[in-house]
Amino acid sequence: MDLASRIQTVKDNIAAAAAAAGRRPEEITLCGATKVQSDDTIRAAIAAGLTVCGENRVQELTAHLAAGAYDGAREVHFIGHLQTNKVRQVVGRVALIQSVDSPHLLQAVDRQADKLGLIQDILLEVNIAGEDSKGGCSPRELYGLAQLALQSPHVRLRGLMAIPPISSAPGANRGYFAEMRQLFIDIREKMLDNQGVMDCLSMGMSADYEDAVAEGATLVRVGTALFGPRPPAVPR
Ligand SMILES: *Cc1c(COP(=O)(O)O)cnc(C)c1O
Repeated sequence: MDLASRIQTVKDNIAAAAAAAGRRPEEITLCGATKVQSDDTIRAAIAAGLTVCGENRVQELTAHLAAGAYDGAREVHFIGHLQTNKVRQVVGRVALIQSVDSPHLLQAVDRQADKLGLIQDILLEVNIAGEDSKGGCSPRELYGLAQLALQSPHVRLRGLMAIPPISSAPGANRGYFAEMRQLFIDIREKMLDNQGVMDCLSMGMSADYEDAVAEGATLVRVGTALFGPRPPAVPR
């Protein structure tokens, strides 16, 4: 299958999963996880109807921006681990930073957005499976972090993001997705002032995006199912 057909297939699967859950397909955004892809592949994906690109390394984001590879996309998001010393290269350059997971990072993003005179949209990343190897705040830390986001005038809290373990079998992550949905509802209820913009629940990847849609995801981040298998990760 070529890239355009794979994009269409993923969109069709999202629409079917939405319909099965009594949801409208338009409620779910497909974000293409473009890590390790070339400028030309990203351009081809956008030409074939991908509207949102998610980048997970600062270096790749910077290079693709400089090359104009995302031109024509509606939005570019940052979805990877973000070091505080690199916020300058990300804030104001992406529509949404999905991976804010500590007070320190939140404050650095707020300060940089202040400097640039803008408001940066963010998600808070939750380590829903409590994995040592992963970023994200614990569910217990989430409320405090959300409060801090509300007190930070240059960030706008748009919702939550999670990266559970890679699904080993269909349905394996449904429980985590359901927990995320409940956290999303709880936080949104507590954040009365902000409710209007708490509209994004980012969860689900190639192996489990349909399960995530069934449990209420409003954005799925899909790489392999769109672009094919990636070469093994190079150490950073
Ligand atoms: C790579 C990546 C994805 C997509 O992973 P696939 O399994 O290839 O679909 C989603 N989210 C993040 C944060 C990623 O880094």
